[in-house]
Parts: sequence; structure tokens; C-alpha cells
Amino acid sequence: MTRLSSGGRIEVICGCMFSGKTEELIRRLNHVRLARQRLIAFTPRRDTRYRLGSLVSHNGLSVEARVIDSIRDIPAHLDVDVHVVAIDELHLLDDPPDAAREVCQELADRGLRVIVAGLDQDFRAQPFPAMAQLMAVAEQVDKLYAICVRCGAYATRSQRLINGKPAPANAPTIVVGGQELYEARCRACYEPAR
Ligand SMILES: [Zn+2]
Repeated sequence: MTRLSSGGRIEVICGCMFSGKTEELIRRLNHVRLARQRLIAFTPRRDTRYRLGSLVSHNGLSVEARVIDSIRDIPAHLDVDVHVVAIDELHLLDDPPDAAREVCQELADRGLRVIVAGLDQDFRAQPFPAMAQLMAVAEQVDKLYAICVRCGAYATRSQRLINGKPAPANAPTIVVGGQELYEARCRACYEPAR
């Protein structure tokens, strides 16, 4: 078990679409509440799938969250009582790739537990640079899997589809959507963007 008083740390929860990242984040935050520690959760403004201002899992659990435009907005929200900082959908923040690592390192160095959830790869199966950098410096990284809609194997990739065909490689990296736009696929069933 993590002894929360023993110092700061960074935890990364990553994986493809539909892998349960937000559920896992909320599960950890429920433990934080049970331990009577103060937490603040953040969600990027671009995550418009759900009500702004809360993290909501597919199974309906929720945690209040503050909406941010940049990772650099976070320090101004924190007071001395906060023990845990949670950031959902980190890949949606439109910051330079180094920014998330710099800010999370600074918070962890101050003794905070920082828990970040986000996609590790974009729809082209390329790493999201901010997530990749955070994973490199994190104390703990958990990679979650979805189930491939084609074959039932463990899925690690987010297939973006337009009229049933893979989205072209030159499509925008960020397009927020759910099952109408994305499928979880395994390595073998993933169709590369062209
Ligand atoms: Zn498959």
C-alpha cells in the first residue's frame, strides 16, 4: 500500500479507449476519500462527452472536477490542505509536451500524490508525447486493456472510424467521441490510418 504521508508520487493510468481508465481513477479517489485526505480533480475543457465539472465513469460513478484549459492552471487551485491531485484525460490538454511532466514533477516534489489518467496512443497508434513523458518519470504506471470488438483479444489501440473506414492519417489528432467514432482493437485487428 502507498503510504500517502511518506512523500509525493506520480501515478499514471493509461490505455486505449474503453479500457476503464476513468473508473480506475475514480476507484482510487474513493479510497482517498475513505482515508479522509483532501483531493482536487481536474478535467480538460475539451472533454465534452460528459457534464463539465465532473469525472464520470461509464458505470455512472462520479467525482467533482474543476475544468482547466492548461496543466499550468493547476497550481493556482491548490491550497496547503490538498494531499492528492487527479487529472483525467490528460492527453486532451493542449500544452507543449514537456508541460505536464514539469508541473506534475513539481507537485510530487512538494509531497503531493498526483494521479493522471489518459490515452497512451492516438488514433494513429502513436504515443501522446505528454503521456509518454509522464510515464517515464512516474513511480507507478498501470496500463489497462479493453476488449477488441473484432476478435475478443485484449485491445491496446483506439481505432477511429469514419463511415466504418479507418480515419485518414492527416485527420486531427484530437476528436472527442465515444462508440460512434471509436472502437477498441488489438494489434492484429487494428487498421493503420493511411
Ligand atoms: Zn482483435
